[in-house]
Amino acid sequence: MMMPPTVANARRRKNAMPDGRSGAAAYGSLTTRLQSQSPPVQMKSEPQQLSNGGKGSGDDADSLEEMPLDIGEHYLVRRSDDSWHPAEVIQTRFNEIENHYEYYVHYEGYNRRLDEWVPRDRIMSSRFDMSDGTWKNGDRNPSIDLLSDSSDRKITRNQKRRHDEINHVQKTYAEMDPTTAALEKEHEAITKVKYIDRIQIGKYEIDTWYFSPYPEEYGKQPKLWICEYCLKYMRLEKTYRYHMSECTHRQPLGKEIYRKGTLSIWEVDGKEHKIYCQNLCLLAKLFLDHKTLYFDVEPFLFYILCEVDKHGAHLVGYFSKEKESPDGNNVACILTLPPFQRQGYGKLLIAFSYELSRIEQAVGSPEKPLSDLGKLSYRSYWSWILLEILRGFRGTLSIKDLSQMTSISQTDIISTLQSMNMVKYWKGQHVICVTPKLVEEHIKSSQYKKPRLTVDSSALRWGAPPRKNVKPGKK
Ligand SMILES: [Zn+2]
Repeated sequence: MMMPPTVANARRRKNAMPDGRSGAAAYGSLTTRLQSQSPPVQMKSEPQQLSNGGKGSGDDADSLEEMPLDIGEHYLVRRSDDSWHPAEVIQTRFNEIENHYEYYVHYEGYNRRLDEWVPRDRIMSSRFDMSDGTWKNGDRNPSIDLLSDSSDRKITRNQKRRHDEINHVQKTYAEMDPTTAALEKEHEAITKVKYIDRIQIGKYEIDTWYFSPYPEEYGKQPKLWICEYCLKYMRLEKTYRYHMSECTHRQPLGKEIYRKGTLSIWEVDGKEHKIYCQNLCLLAKLFLDHKTLYFDVEPFLFYILCEVDKHGAHLVGYFSKEKESPDGNNVACILTLPPFQRQGYGKLLIAFSYELSRIEQAVGSPEKPLSDLGKLSYRSYWSWILLEILRGFRGTLSIKDLSQMTSISQTDIISTLQSMNMVKYWKGQHVICVTPKLVEEHIKSSQYKKPRLTVDSSALRWGAPPRKNVKPGKK
């Protein structure tokens, strides 16, 4: 599951573009497309906006300020780009500081990443009739677009379906065993409301994307303060300020295994530094929709990417990895923090995970499901690696050869080659079917992106751990 990676700048005011430049581009263009396909609802008259406590809007507004809206009802809500969109009220809370109610809304047809808390003055006074379908203004469901078109624009729907089938991207409830299905439903219920809107970490204030199960009193704050070194989380700025003056850490816990220029990577054992790793998982969950590991961190290793300056080593992103993976996963979770996305760090982490697999003389694959943004970064990385090999190669190559050369699993290689139309199914097996011309076409296409950052294996100080017969943890 990854980042991995976006919305419109209007909402992600600061540092909030998802990981991977293509992801961000895709999301941005999606927003544009949605608006062009489904123009913002045209108001017959000036929106009856309840501005500033309803002043000027009459008695009606004042009384509305006192009575919270009903959960489950639909209203037109003004988004941060000033467009009006139908939204469902999912939760209410009373903001004691500003002395008014706030509403957690889900915009119909949009990804839940865009769910947000809004004050009453961004909500129309009267309810919106969802049976009036004209707001959609088109036969395509934007929520489907979000997953299919935007996340992989170069791939046709059919190709994407095949890819998902091969990679088992996401099962439906019906396909799961009853326990898993129950857990999944519970997950959806619990994660519906995201209370923590923002975090302060180091010099960044970051808008969050998803719910994270911080313990009760912390989990319902609008903003958390997080030490960028030890990842302790706090409710109050003054506690944070005091902590920053007291905290002795200036780098991740664990040991540094890679240093190249200002970039360093640290290996942290979940068993040795349990609290740190749990805090990291809680932080990561704010940006990952489908992550289930928070507390059982002992069976995992964490690889923390930092930018180093004279003040210390600043957290950029990380991936986790099972110490022993029965499914051959070399990455469990992977994330680049929003301020650092679109700069090549996600793909550097991916490359690093394969470098470790190469040293282990193993083949690996990221745990599924990948997030939409994670999928983009992996797809781009895999395409680049394979095209680099194919462009210079003369002779015969099997998929197995490619897998041994790259540590990428055969399944991932096949799906990547399929997306580039470079594989045929012949006599019961997949056969690479490629001409120099086809390789050149792809290298010239936008799908081929040379990573901005690559792993320098001479800067890595790491040996494969001895294989132990440990019962693997379930992520
Ligand atoms: Zn600290």
